[in-house]
Amino acid sequence: MSQINKVLIVGAGIAGLSIAIALRKRGVVVEIFERTPELSEVGAAISVAPNSARVLLSFGFDPKRARATDAGPQYEYNKDGVVVDSLDLRDIVRDVGVPWWFLHRADLQFELLRIATSDRDESWGPPAMLRLGFNIIRVDCDSGVIVSDKGERFQGDLIIGADGVKSVIRQEITGRMDEPSVYSGHSAFRSLYNIEELKADPELRVFVNEIKMEDWVGRDGRRCLLYPCRDNTLLNLFAPVFWEASQSVESWRANGKASDLAEKFKEFPKPLQKLLFPGLWQIRDRNPVHGWHKGKALLIGDAAHPMLPHQGQGGAQAIEDAASLPIFLLDTPPDMSLAARLQRFEEFRYPRVTAIQERSRQQKEGPKQREDSEAWKC
Ligand SMILES: Cc1cc2nc3c(=O)[nH]c(=O)nc-3n(C[C@H](O)[C@H](O)[C@H](O)COP(=O)(O)OP(=O)(O)OC[C@H]3O[C@@H](n4cnc5c(N)ncnc54)[C@H](O)[C@@H]3O)c2cc1C
Repeated sequence: MSQINKVLIVGAGIAGLSIAIALRKRGVVVEIFERTPELSEVGAAISVAPNSARVLLSFGFDPKRARATDAGPQYEYNKDGVVVDSLDLRDIVRDVGVPWWFLHRADLQFELLRIATSDRDESWGPPAMLRLGFNIIRVDCDSGVIVSDKGERFQGDLIIGADGVKSVIRQEITGRMDEPSVYSGHSAFRSLYNIEELKADPELRVFVNEIKMEDWVGRDGRRCLLYPCRDNTLLNLFAPVFWEASQSVESWRANGKASDLAEKFKEFPKPLQKLLFPGLWQIRDRNPVHGWHKGKALLIGDAAHPMLPHQGQGGAQAIEDAASLPIFLLDTPPDMSLAARLQRFEEFRYPRVTAIQERSRQQKEGPKQREDSEAWKC
């Protein structure tokens, strides 16, 4: 097989930046093409369970710099505010010996970017080059060439499509008959609140009196999940509900009015209702499929295996992809073809990510996370 010296990565999300670090750490030259003109503070919080925190630590991830909040106890309430289950995530941390963090997505992304692009010791490849404002519209899988919307062409020994659930690279690898993403029937209200402001409100301070995760579970998959991030200065709310939306329109925004929201959560305690305001996102995934690679192109992260967020594992699985790909790419016999290496990677990762995709679909009715999911342990 020809050497893998230079890898072009499409997408600077969690998957793209993680694989950039993992390959750079092995001496490979990496270039990242991101269509947005700058990496900005988009998105809310993300739970970084030990299976992904372990990998991040091996990259030299600095939780202090990323303003990580260490997980604490987790309480599950019914809609009347009665605690029906609890678990101390710190016990898990003690058992597995790896932290469990809550991070703002931007803080995770910027710390990954720092590691990918800063000076390191000589055993690492050169700092990754991040090319912002490059919208990649085509890949030639045979020659390893990507083409931007302005017609610029770039060639690498391997192209990694880390361009998310609506991946352009995926369409090229799987052919134009690619299935659209699947609307789960759920949309989610998502927002972030300033914890100091919540503390000043006598009705709301109960949500922030300690570092904890709260999961309020109502009927029909109605939930409010609350947890802090950014050095415990922001409270993240994720509130999924069943919501009519077009199956065929691959939009992430759904139309949600304050009155609809009030109606959906009217059985929940009043202080919790006070927190909710409309900013509704559709929750979509794809049916698991084989065929993550073709010629010199490969998919990772949500581009290969998007999943519903009910286990908080989509980003973690992208990070696990990054941890394992270099082993299949660089530590296999020299006479093994690139196709065989990429196939082995897919065969290794497919059962695990598919099981988590399926579990995440099963859990949209409500959390049975503690019994059903062991994903975070691995
Ligand atoms: C509500 C919600 C909560 C979640 N909570 C968690 C959680 O707690 N824990 C967890 O592990 N996961 C969680 N996830 C899942 C996680 O967010 C995703 O799995 C993860 O962000 C996927 O990363 P990615 O890099 O594969 O894709 P993305 O984050 O989508 O990144 C893709 C990147 O590619 C760029 N791009 C796209 N197309 C092109 C193109 N043509 N050319 C150049 N660049 C392009 C995009 O601009 C973007 O920067 C959650 C998801 C949701 C929706």
